[in-house]
Amino acid sequence: MNYSDIKYADMINGEGIRVSLFVSGCDHACAGCFNKVSWDENYGKPFTEASEKEIFDYFTKYGHSLRGLSLLGGDPTYPKNIEPLTEFLKRFKEKFPDKDVWIWSGFTWEEIREDEKKARLLSYCDVLVDGRFVENLKDITQKWKGSLNQRVLDVKKTMAAGTAVEYKKRPA
Ligand code: SF4
Repeated sequence: MNYSDIKYADMINGEGIRVSLFVSGCDHACAGCFNKVSWDENYGKPFTEASEKEIFDYFTKYGHSLRGLSLLGGDPTYPKNIEPLTEFLKRFKEKFPDKDVWIWSGFTWEEIREDEKKARLLSYCDVLVDGRFVENLKDITQKWKGSLNQRVLDVKKTMAAGTAVEYKKRPA
């Protein structure tokens, strides 16, 4: 798996102060995509044990002020990214169980739950921003999503209810 960037102390992509990992690879080809270079799975550099350690060390050092981790792309649910991210999140949640994980996917929750591997990755996440970017539904006033068809979902409540449940902002 390749990634293009790790943003530390990110306050844009999710709630609170976060670490955001931008992985490479996406085959949704949404018209008006803001990050076309990330479609190529070889874009950026390999996500290695050293990259993981860098993130873990940051959480160990600054965890008291961090709310969690965000996974963006590209698409974290792109085939080549699913297994490495699942293993990474498994270790992340073991080490930092009180930190939340947000994930952005071009697939909808309904599509993700039908795919065993994608669903397993999602099981380590707390918030899902789902669906492709649709240019004629673009709305720059929306927080965390680019177009009105996308949803910000509470993963645990959605899984339990078996239907999409919108995420409600948590107190700081
Ligand atoms: S899912 Fe995201 S990264 Fe992929 S084409 Fe659509 S907007 Fe671009």
